[in-house]
Amino acid sequence: MPRSTEILEEQVSAFPPRLSQNDALELYRSSEYNDLLYVANERRRKLLPGNTVTYLVDRNINYTNVCTINCHFCSFYRPPGHSETYTQSFIQISDRISELEEIGGTRILMQGGVNPDLGLDWYVELLSNLRERHPSIALDCFSPIEIEGIARVAGISTMDVLSKLADAGLHGLPGGGAEMLVDDVRKGVSPLKGSSENWIQVMREAQILGLVTSATNVIGLGETIAQRVQHLDRIRMLQDETMQSGNRGFTSFISWPVMLENNSLGRGNRGSNQFTLGANAIEYLRHVAISRLYLDNILHIQASWPTMGMDVAQMALFAGADDAGSTMMEENVVSASGTSKTEASIDELRTMITTAGFVPVQRDSEYNMISQIATPSNQ
Ligand code: SF4
Repeated sequence: MPRSTEILEEQVSAFPPRLSQNDALELYRSSEYNDLLYVANERRRKLLPGNTVTYLVDRNINYTNVCTINCHFCSFYRPPGHSETYTQSFIQISDRISELEEIGGTRILMQGGVNPDLGLDWYVELLSNLRERHPSIALDCFSPIEIEGIARVAGISTMDVLSKLADAGLHGLPGGGAEMLVDDVRKGVSPLKGSSENWIQVMREAQILGLVTSATNVIGLGETIAQRVQHLDRIRMLQDETMQSGNRGFTSFISWPVMLENNSLGRGNRGSNQFTLGANAIEYLRHVAISRLYLDNILHIQASWPTMGMDVAQMALFAGADDAGSTMMEENVVSASGTSKTEASIDELRTMITTAGFVPVQRDSEYNMISQIATPSNQ
């Protein structure tokens, strides 16, 4: 019997052993597609019994496109001084949140570039302002690289920055900027971005402070499958450490393939990487399934409709994913590199879930169920 078949049989046993990196590599290399997805789906059903799939009503806000990091896969940012730079005012951001409140939304995901002109005071004032105006909206904001940028400008530690932002109203730190937590890959596609250890350290600090965090992963950056497994392993190790410390770990994991339009990576700037860029639907679904099995300490796996489309996202619900993501309402960063959809209405998400045979349930950003009853449409 092929080793990959043995591994999958162990994974559907009553007490499945934890996958080693070699096991995961074997699944990548030689597992049968249908068998892999079946086992991942069984794991999801065992961990989350029932027939529900969750979704979040939220809004993405990309408050500034000024950035000094120059990631090769990014079509969103503009360097300081460029004629197309913008930074939204507090009122503009607040108005966007008011529109989210009108459709029953519960959180914003606010991320932007690493803007050296914005000091810590600007961020503290922004969060305090939003907290006061929108007390029922969870403020999940900034990626670790933004926190590093704020710390650099302020001349204090990232832990001190996070602490001040949490005091001002920060609810969570989304997992943006993880991409591939392998330094060789990062150096090839984002030479100015912090090391993988920096991302891990800022997330560790956020978890110590009790902020809500999630983990992400971009595939198709020129990495090998061994490097994909290394990424999963970094996430799993931090989750182990956080759980052992009694802190709240990552709520969820979401992966998607890199988009290659309008950026220098797509135009051939591959740095030192050797692997094929991008990932097709089958490769993505296999990655979702292996993530479900490998990340045995993260409960929720999200499907990615913005990059893969609704049809493939539906298939991900049979590959181990239990969550359909969120409405987003105006995503600008990933979409600048070629996604076809930048937002989904509540009805679209619910239809995607029901036509796949599941019951849609609205959740908040901490994965607490809000309602199974039909919510107002934003169409
Ligand atoms: S991905 Fe983020 S950090 Fe990288 S260039 Fe774009 S905005 Fe800057």
